[in-house]
Amino acid sequence: MAETHFGFQKVDEREKARRVAGVFSSVAQKYDVMNDLMSAGLHRLWKKFTIELAAPRPGERVLDVAGGTADLSSAFAPRVGPRGEVWLTDINNAMLGVGRDRLLDEGVLTPVAQCDAEKLPFPDNYFDIVTVAFGLRNMTHKEQALAEMRRVLRPGGRLLVLEFSRVWKPLEKAYDLYSFKLLPWLGEKIAGDAESYRYLAESIRMHPDQATLKAMMENAGLERVDVFNLSAGVVAVHRGYKL
Ligand code: SAM
Repeated sequence: MAETHFGFQKVDEREKARRVAGVFSSVAQKYDVMNDLMSAGLHRLWKKFTIELAAPRPGERVLDVAGGTADLSSAFAPRVGPRGEVWLTDINNAMLGVGRDRLLDEGVLTPVAQCDAEKLPFPDNYFDIVTVAFGLRNMTHKEQALAEMRRVLRPGGRLLVLEFSRVWKPLEKAYDLYSFKLLPWLGEKIAGDAESYRYLAESIRMHPDQATLKAMMENAGLERVDVFNLSAGVVAVHRGYKL
């Protein structure tokens, strides 16, 4: 079995998937409140920006990969309207359950599917927009997941990847302090789980930087790939097209 990373640790691939599942099953109920706390609400702006870049139009079909608690699906649904489709998908049942309940509470009737981004159960050339927000980092075979996301896009469709990225160098020290000290402390206090938030900080450091992810998307066959840095590179949105 090939090896990969779970945060800073080297583990075999099956072990990584098992541990990622453990993290998200553990944090699902506190996921939304932790996101607001950890980012001081900024994640809402990052997601809003991503949706504006995707520029959904009425009647379009959207796939929200690793959609978790459904922030993006919830915002896409009114934009594509009743003639459009928004699919909320995630590999983790606990996260998906929170997302599905939230959409129902909002009166959004949209399909929800539990599936692995590396093996999407959708036909070729189906979606106008595919998004993955803070999900790619957790996937074992990122190239395979990107290829799958491209496969299900129709020609002319766009893929948006919102993910943590490489922060502006002068801010690195302060960001390290925040990530490795404050995050696990907050995780312990609010979610009773320091370990999952230590994984978060480590997995961000192990994730490809802006230029590497751009190259990975191009290798997966996406074209006209643009990178948008947000909050000094704490996160970046990569947008690419299937032409
Ligand atoms: N997109 C949501 C957001 O931005 O708030 C949730 C992001 S959460 C940090 C990461 C999500 O990726 C988790 O819900 C996790 O279950 C999901 N995930 C991890 N590996 C996955 C895979 N191989 N396929 C689909 N989803 C995956």
